[in-house]
Amino acid sequence: MNISSIYGLTLEQLTAWLNEHGHKKSRAAQVWDWLYRKRVTAFSDMVDINKDCIQLLSDHFVIQTLHENLKQESADGTIKFLFHLQDGNLIETVLMRHKFGLSVCVTTQVGCNIGCSFCASGLLAKSRDLSSGEIVEQIMKVQLHLDQAGKDERVSHIVVMGIGEPFDNFENMTDFINVVKDHKGLAIGARHITVSTSGLAGKIVEFADSDLNVNLAVSLHAPNNELRTRIMKINRAIPIEKLMQSIDYYLEKTNRRITLEYILLKDVNDRMEHALELADLVGDRRQLVNVNLIPYNPVDEHSQYQRSEQESIRLFYDTLKKQGVSCSVRLEHGTDIDAACGQLRSKQMKNAN
Ligand code: SF4
Repeated sequence: MNISSIYGLTLEQLTAWLNEHGHKKSRAAQVWDWLYRKRVTAFSDMVDINKDCIQLLSDHFVIQTLHENLKQESADGTIKFLFHLQDGNLIETVLMRHKFGLSVCVTTQVGCNIGCSFCASGLLAKSRDLSSGEIVEQIMKVQLHLDQAGKDERVSHIVVMGIGEPFDNFENMTDFINVVKDHKGLAIGARHITVSTSGLAGKIVEFADSDLNVNLAVSLHAPNNELRTRIMKINRAIPIEKLMQSIDYYLEKTNRRITLEYILLKDVNDRMEHALELADLVGDRRQLVNVNLIPYNPVDEHSQYQRSEQESIRLFYDTLKKQGVSCSVRLEHGTDIDAACGQLRSKQMKNAN
């Protein structure tokens, strides 16, 4: 039987749970401090918590449910972790070093049902959602790795862009964000957290209405329905018009900038005409939109797609800029390891078969 991860509870939930079990509210703050500030990995290490409470916690929760299966470190400091879960499933988590800090990319599901045609992860249908505890624990495992290195480094940013569609696991993703944001714990600023969706319009509206206040990125990848349906089959159910309506709702409601992700695939969506069409689509949302161009990392599983030429990337970028669209080209991390999302996991699973 799998016991729940204690990391799955927000401070509010932990307080209520302990209270229901006869412990005063201040006990939760103490436990929280041991988990997220002192970062112990066993309840018995919480030395100022009374024995009854330690026993109660040990009977109902565990601290560690993820186990490191493999770790790949790149020359640029990127580290890709492969963890196995209590049920034996494998997930990936990535630590990236930037000038502005250390960011971690987390996985939210085992497999993914969205089926983007360029993605190594999308080849394996979703077998289950990750619990909020399993998502939080990815951050904790990376933070513990940093703690052990003894350089006093902290995870400062989070991108929810790993395997899975976070909006298809909305409640657990929400709890995860509330745990990592909590100022008494990891205290990762809302502005330092970005959730990326393939474009589930209804959930974008729900996200806009929530009080999470974190950043949103939407995978667009094509400027028209025909091309987007080829690249992302989700576009059949949620075409660009419907997606843009939900984005407009988000912009209106939050007045926060949004990122449109655009993966550049050679001779598929990387021509100047596509850049012009994209600029038209952004239209008068320019003030609140940034387009993030992502040079494609080829994977064996999708040999139909190649990386765009450097010249095409430059031309695409320049064209958007000339049209007044704010854009950037994503810096690559870990190019000497299995850099593409899901690559390490799929390689490991093939090896096991
Ligand atoms: S890119 Fe993301 S949403 Fe699309 S199949 Fe891969 S994991 Fe799923």
